Amino acid sequence: MSRTVLALSPHLDDAAFSAGGLLARLAAGGDRVILATVFTGNVARPTGFALACQLDKGLAPDADYMALRRAEDEAACAALGAEPLHLPHLEAPHRGYEDAPSLFGGVRTEDREEAAVAETLRSAFGGERIDLLLLPRGIGGHVDHEVVRRAGGVLDAKRRLYWTDWPYADREAPKAPFAAEDGRLLSETVTLTPREADAKLAACLAYETQLGFQFGGAEALRERLAGIQSETYLA
Ligand SMILES: [Zn+2]
Repeated sequence: MSRTVLALSPHLDDAAFSAGGLLARLAAGGDRVILATVFTGNVARPTGFALACQLDKGLAPDADYMALRRAEDEAACAALGAEPLHLPHLEAPHRGYEDAPSLFGGVRTEDREEAAVAETLRSAFGGERIDLLLLPRGIGGHVDHEVVRRAGGVLDAKRRLYWTDWPYADREAPKAPFAAEDGRLLSETVTLTPREADAKLAACLAYETQLGFQFGGAEALRERLAGIQSETYLA
């Protein structure tokens, strides 16, 4: 019987960047792989920092930024063999986080998104049998990653693995894994086959609007990924 794998990505790109190789492996092995991205909601006329986050990707103010990114995600999922699902929550710049440092300054007490995301997850997946749930560890401390990591706790799953958020993990000095807090420290390294690495690369390249900002372009992403032959997860 084929298993159901659910990957909960904060943004349109995180799961592919961090766990694309494992997702490609599971899908190729016959598992049903659902790649659900939480923060894909639209704002018709973004202003302030939210607008700046769109303009610094080289997009016009009136471009439908999320529509472009959802289409990129569909191409990425096709490369991985995953089913895309887009949940309509709004990214942190639309929730009162007004500059780049605030995105990494901890989830604010007045930010109620975790409960809202948990409710969405419960209604979307509460009745599903989830054999493997993949979640971000939250390395880098982006508030949206933290919200998804915590909200994912409402789902029942036979097994959970927390991916190592990339490229954030490259920028941060290694520190004690968060999982120490609940006593679980098992880590698992998945060594990618060339076919899995290729599928991951194709998926990552699909997120065109993000590549300049995150990596300095498609070529730079290729070079960075060429040096990565494994993915590390915490259980
Ligand atoms: Zn992200």
